[in-house]
Amino acid sequence: MSRYAYVNGRYLPFRDAKVHIEDRGYQFGDGVYEVCEVRGGRLIDERRHMVRLQRSLDALRIRAPMSPRSLSVVLHEVVRRNRIGYGNVYLQVTRGVARRDHGFPAPQVKPSLVVTARPLNRTRNEALAAKGIAVISVPDDRWGRVDIKTIGLLPNVLARQAAIEQGARDAWFVDKDGYVTEGASTNAWIVTAAGAVVTRPADHGILRGITRTVLFDMIKAQGLWLEERPFTLAEAYAAREAFMTAATQIVLPVVRIDGHAIGDGKPGPVATTLRRDFHLYAEQS
Ligand code: PLP
Repeated sequence: MSRYAYVNGRYLPFRDAKVHIEDRGYQFGDGVYEVCEVRGGRLIDERRHMVRLQRSLDALRIRAPMSPRSLSVVLHEVVRRNRIGYGNVYLQVTRGVARRDHGFPAPQVKPSLVVTARPLNRTRNEALAAKGIAVISVPDDRWGRVDIKTIGLLPNVLARQAAIEQGARDAWFVDKDGYVTEGASTNAWIVTAAGAVVTRPADHGILRGITRTVLFDMIKAQGLWLEERPFTLAEAYAAREAFMTAATQIVLPVVRIDGHAIGDGKPGPVATTLRRDFHLYAEQS
């Protein structure tokens, strides 16, 4: 259970952690976020997440709420106060509180910063990875800049809910040309019959996942065959393996897509090995 949150300069008991109703995150989804895995009480790949945060802030012209050094102190403090061994830390920056008006508020309006942390059930996550998950495909009807990690996640919410209602765990977005873009909160991967590990290039059509970036290093170091190219849904159905990546799930095998069994319908060796070895390649702080 979360015990404390950081809200605009203060560490507050979780139940008292509130933002103003005219926060632009609440009114317009005008903000960005990051999620880092916490393991052994340490942050995984904090540096890379902070680089991406700055990129998202720059893309939306939102000021950084504090220096990177101070932000790191806050992240670690929220993890410490919540006594998180295994879990995640979430941070959100919005354009701040201002009278509702679409245009940007006056420059002196301070961005809002919220940080929370929560434990995750490791046994449950490992059991899920050992079994693999089912996903459905849904049309990718998101805006054209999903490479910016904004809090405007309505299509992702609807996609995940559709998956749940169809007895699956997650949804993969498919663009108008039939290519898989990514999951509702994950990057999508397949392993072809020939053994190539394939994932879509990180253009504006997907979020450049930090887990994805670390996997690139791993795949190269392990001498696997990486192909960074779009793949179709048909290719995914016929793949030997499929999996998805995200900071809170690392590598999660996908064993069914739209009811089609992938490979032999069990987590495959590539996904299992990448999951097992991930933390040898990730940074800890
Ligand atoms: N794609 C989307 C849409 C996401 O929301 C996320 C994570 O939240 C990812 C991919 C995976 O990114 P990361 O590996 O940095 O967690």
